[in-house]
Amino acid sequence: MITCQRQRRPVHCPAGHFLAVGATALLGLGAAGATPAAARARRLPTPEREVVAGPMVMALTFDDGPSPQYTPQVLDVLRAYGVRATFFVCGDNVGLYPDVVRRIVAEGHAVGNHSWSHPHLGELSAADVRGQIQRTQDAVAKVGGRTPVLFRAPYGDFADAALTVCADLGLRPISWSVDPSDWANPGAGTIADRVLAGAATGSIVLNHDGTEGGDDNPAPGSGGDRSQTVAALRSYLPELIDAGYSFTTPDAHPPR
Ligand SMILES: [Zn+2]
Repeated sequence: MITCQRQRRPVHCPAGHFLAVGATALLGLGAAGATPAAARARRLPTPEREVVAGPMVMALTFDDGPSPQYTPQVLDVLRAYGVRATFFVCGDNVGLYPDVVRRIVAEGHAVGNHSWSHPHLGELSAADVRGQIQRTQDAVAKVGGRTPVLFRAPYGDFADAALTVCADLGLRPISWSVDPSDWANPGAGTIADRVLAGAATGSIVLNHDGTEGGDDNPAPGSGGDRSQTVAALRSYLPELIDAGYSFTTPDAHPPR
């Protein structure tokens, strides 16, 4: 006996929509699952733009480090105010400055994965994307003693290949909601004003404490100078605290 796929009953279908009896149930699964690739795509995590941790709680993040010059200055400010932050590090910098990574971890901050060498992940092969992320996981685990659970794509380029790796490795993709463009060095006052203007419950603030790709490959337009970022932090952090904000790291709270 045969079953017409459209009529769903044993019949000789003149249009040729034939399935063997017994395959009808499988057809249901197939219709829901389409191709394995499509099914996989539906499970990809969505980049998180805010932290869900209660009223007046937000998150500070610092990308492209660690830097032997600027990361310790950022850590000094955070320590002075008892604030924990997230550092999205590049794997090549982790290898260059392991002591800085160890201090980040020792002082209770979260270390996230920001790829190995800060490429546009959407321009790489799936294998190269996986290599960028996995190598950095391994480097942080080796140096810092813990494997990252947070990932931020360079340039916010959360390509499907990167999100697939996130799903495979249990990494949460973390975007941001407040971008003061500190990397462009617009002035510490401007950076602080932008952060204060954007701050709200759940905000994730994007900052940069390091230089992507190592000191030999500074971020475009930055020259690798993060002094404005540090000066801005010294300015806006006490203002936010006075306004009633507290700070957390995304890994401490489940996504929305
Ligand atoms: Zn970056």
